[in-house]
Amino acid sequence: MDRIKSLRGFRDIYGDEVKKFRYVEEVCRKYFNLFGYKEIITPVLENTGLFIRSIGETTDIVEKEMFTFKDLSGESVTMRPEATAGIVRAYLEQGIFAKERISKLFSIGPMFRHERPQKGRYREFRQIDVEVFGINDPMLDAELIWMTTLILKEIGLENYTIEVNSVGCSDCREHFRQMIVGYFEGIKDDLCEDCKRRLQRNPLRIFDCKNTKCKEISASSPFLFDHLCEPCKTHFNDFIRHLESLGIKVNINKRLVRGLDYYTGTVFEIVSQELGSQNAFLAGGRYNNLVESMGGPKVPGIGFAIGLDRLVLLVKEIKEKITPVFFFAYLGERAKKFIFPFMEEFIINNLKLLYLPEAKSLKSQLRYADSIRADYVLILGEDEIEKGIVIVRNMSKGNQLDIPLDVSTLIPNLQGLFEK
Ligand code: ATP
Ligand code: MG
Repeated sequence: MDRIKSLRGFRDIYGDEVKKFRYVEEVCRKYFNLFGYKEIITPVLENTGLFIRSIGETTDIVEKEMFTFKDLSGESVTMRPEATAGIVRAYLEQGIFAKERISKLFSIGPMFRHERPQKGRYREFRQIDVEVFGINDPMLDAELIWMTTLILKEIGLENYTIEVNSVGCSDCREHFRQMIVGYFEGIKDDLCEDCKRRLQRNPLRIFDCKNTKCKEISASSPFLFDHLCEPCKTHFNDFIRHLESLGIKVNINKRLVRGLDYYTGTVFEIVSQELGSQNAFLAGGRYNNLVESMGGPKVPGIGFAIGLDRLVLLVKEIKEKITPVFFFAYLGERAKKFIFPFMEEFIINNLKLLYLPEAKSLKSQLRYADSIRADYVLILGEDEIEKGIVIVRNMSKGNQLDIPLDVSTLIPNLQGLFEK
């Protein structure tokens, strides 16, 4: 019979990869906690309008990447392509803005974009997302970068580059837009079809175009960075100054723009040369107008998202706390009755005792113990029950010894063995 396969761009994550996912999450949670963040979980499915309004109508995400459909009641709904929009909605809907002056939030979960699948690019991918509401101080921009460097250091990542830029406020953007329209009008015919449209509706998006010709054209055009207003310039310089005081090296990339319209001022991306063409594994920036434009008060915001699927590709080694694996090999019905009482003792003591159900011979159980890399095997058969002992075999050394068959002293006796 034909088997049903997973959808294109959707994938199963298991084995070592899932361990790396959990490890990165764990390290992130540790630092989020130390920096005062609280977790928020928002829905995967939202009203389509939420994303159109926040991300921007003429962005790639909204124009061609969203999983949008009508639900059974005819309402247009969208699988979230990013986390910020939903978190801002929750921030307003739950009245969080009224309860606390500063909100530091994080969220972990899947995002959905209908893109062409390739290495590091999927239709369902996972992000770790951080958002801070209520502070405009560039010190916070630097704090966010600092926190990520601590996370990356603990994960064991060294070869990465932090790219930073400022995309200005609405004032400098409007001024620059007029300038740039004049520039691109002159060479309009060389732009791709998408960019010709962007020129009319949202010319700054031309800088985000992946088309080689458009990239060349925008590379030699004026940069918004060189035309920032005074407050934006000061904010950026202070941001850099704070980073310097933390000893963090960044690369100012005047070409860096982000794929979403809501960014203002500071933007950044962390890239790794080890990742090939999909090289950004973290991206974010400031969005000082977003909350207000979503119908809320004038509250500044800043955030970033880690592309987990890409970041785990860079994780070489997991610093795991190693606890020994015990395996219980039993022979006969009487011995079998000891499985659950033994396991219970192990679990109470935070230890792992595994066994093979429906086991036939000792040989097959030992082979299985080997395959799951058990450190110690407890062996119990009729003879041992008669003698009132359990055999404990050290699998790496190959030697074995006896301990009393007594549930209450089982763990202390074993601990004496493996802690030596
Ligand atoms: P890209 O330029 O690679 O398309 P983006 O600018 O669209 O990235 P963001 O919206 O900023 O990405 O999302 C933040 C991070 O999420 C990215 O840096 C990346 O690591 C990850 N990411 C984005 N889209 C995908 C995807 N389709 N598959 C896997 N990871 C993704
Ligand atoms: Mg993209």
